[in-house]
Amino acid sequence: MNRLLVVAAHGDDETLGAGGTIARLADEGVTIGLCVLTNDDGSRAGVRKGVTNRGSAIETAAKILGIERVQVNEFGDNRLDTVGQLELNRVVEREVRDFEPDAMFTTALSDLSHDHQLVSRAARVAGRSGRSGVREIRAFEVRSATDTGEAAGISPGFRPNYWETLDEDHLERKLSALRAYGEELEEWPNPRSVRAVRALAEYRGSQVAVPLAEAFELIRIVR
Ligand SMILES: [Zn+2]
Repeated sequence: MNRLLVVAAHGDDETLGAGGTIARLADEGVTIGLCVLTNDDGSRAGVRKGVTNRGSAIETAAKILGIERVQVNEFGDNRLDTVGQLELNRVVEREVRDFEPDAMFTTALSDLSHDHQLVSRAARVAGRSGRSGVREIRAFEVRSATDTGEAAGISPGFRPNYWETLDEDHLERKLSALRAYGEELEEWPNPRSVRAVRALAEYRGSQVAVPLAEAFELIRIVR
């Protein structure tokens, strides 16, 4: 992997889902771009404490994780269904053309969030085999969207088959990047709490007998 494009519905999806892996890959010399489809329109006011401009939070988080290029689109949060799949496909296709990634990460189709489902489809379309040049696509989990998808009976749920091991530094950078999205992380047992983020990394690690990991669904790889 040389150039990775992370395609997210909302600023923070990339951090919650793959922040530790992004930090690790950046350390290893991978050039990383981030494409976020929505910008905060206030529909989640009160949830994102202390955040007035999501765009600047995304920039700060990206810097912490080692992401070199950030592209934020101005579609409304929780309103991607009004934009339509075709338009989303075009936006992500344009970013793939400009950034020329050989790998992509995106949200999971099994998430309850309709935004996440639409963005996941757009990334798969934009990164399809052939002209895109993309050889690997993975989906990450975003607590709580992934959890609520399972709890709402969406089937099949998130089924990881690819694990990235993390060290403490990668996990710390993930937590620092999350802090950029609000003054504080939430209290336990909120899925955005330090304890929950660590617990997930430990759980995913223990599935493959390592201390810390992030888990992915490998959608396609061509080597
Ligand atoms: Zn999201």
